[in-house]
Amino acid sequence: MVAVDNIDIHVGGITPFTTIDFPGRLAAVIFCQGCPWRCRYCHNRHLLESGEAGQYSWNDTFRWLETRRGLLDGVVFSGGEPLLQKQLPEAIGQIHQNGFEVALHTSGVYPERLSKVLPLIEWVGLDIKAPFDEYELITGGGNGQRAKDSLIRILDSGKDFELRCTVDPLFFNPDNAGKMARQLMELGVSHLVLQPYRDLVNRRTQAVSKEIIASIEQFLPVVKQRH
Ligand code: SF4
Repeated sequence: MVAVDNIDIHVGGITPFTTIDFPGRLAAVIFCQGCPWRCRYCHNRHLLESGEAGQYSWNDTFRWLETRRGLLDGVVFSGGEPLLQKQLPEAIGQIHQNGFEVALHTSGVYPERLSKVLPLIEWVGLDIKAPFDEYELITGGGNGQRAKDSLIRILDSGKDFELRCTVDPLFFNPDNAGKMARQLMELGVSHLVLQPYRDLVNRRTQAVSKEIIASIEQFLPVVKQRH
């Protein structure tokens, strides 16, 4: 086991307690620094630069987590993109040793790294940004083939997972929403969680239109809305 001091995870922030980010568990969220994508609606812009060390060292984060034993069930790695952290598998191993379960939130940008981490975690949440052939329009250049590859690896792993999509009203319409849902169905997916778009300036949310929901429901039997 690698010593805690020798693990380099750039932590940009911590939510000490959540009931909504890891289903069925009381958890803390560790927000990792850095993401290669630039989604047009990203609300974590302060976490995007990968060259920055982050707010906390892994040593500080781990010592704090030790004080949460018995109070939390799990730890969620979110971001930014947590799979950018090369020593994530070692960090997960240390967290398990302390009795916590582990969840991962990912955009799917690193399918090969995801394959290494999947056997180590209990749950994964994968963002679906758009139809796979239109990802660039949301991510600022990020390729949807990587997200598709990640989804296939999650499905093959048999892990519990959630797919969620932020419904950007400037991008989505019933046609491309239906196309995205059909692509998911063709891979064997049956559920999708829709997250409302939140304006970057005034932080108001915009509800998902009935037409878009109906279009998605043509292909996916379980469509939930997060408010
Ligand atoms: S993948 Fe996530 S963290 Fe990265 S830019 Fe998009 S919304 Fe932000």
